[in-house]
Amino acid sequence: MDRPGLRSPEYHAWSFEQALKTAVRTESGCVEWPRARDRYGYGKFQWPEGWLAHRFALGLKLGRPVGQEFMALHTCDNPPCVSPDHLYEGDGADNGRDKARAGTVKGEANPQSRLTDDDVRGIIEQCDAGERLADVAERFGVTPGAVWFIERGFAWTHVTGRAPKDPTRR
Ligand SMILES: [Zn+2]
Repeated sequence: MDRPGLRSPEYHAWSFEQALKTAVRTESGCVEWPRARDRYGYGKFQWPEGWLAHRFALGLKLGRPVGQEFMALHTCDNPPCVSPDHLYEGDGADNGRDKARAGTVKGEANPQSRLTDDDVRGIIEQCDAGERLADVAERFGVTPGAVWFIERGFAWTHVTGRAPKDPTRR
């Protein structure tokens, strides 16, 4: 992707993708934010609605910003992780239950997910057929960023069976 204009809506997704190029992927599937972190270990990423990298990542996955009254929570209990597979939208009560069910909220089983397993297979098919991310995203009612995560093997890997690709390649 060419660098979008600084004030364009696409700029922050682009900037986020640039950071992911050097993210550390752990054996447990975490994608650890490679840039600055706050004192609690959360990745710092400046965008119009905040500065938490994992909250931005969850917004990309959901195809909309995380609700003001909700938190972006980790199933992996790893604050710097920005893997969309490890993030979900929840409240303080969910936060308390996190540790008990770490790693158990995946894909369709997660009520916050907009996509079904079949949708994800369809997205992969269309991407493999050479369709544009933006067109595929529109068909499935998600953001191009969400499609990008799936296509590149950062999300829904339990359905796609994909390993994360080098984000610098198409
Ligand atoms: Zn993780």
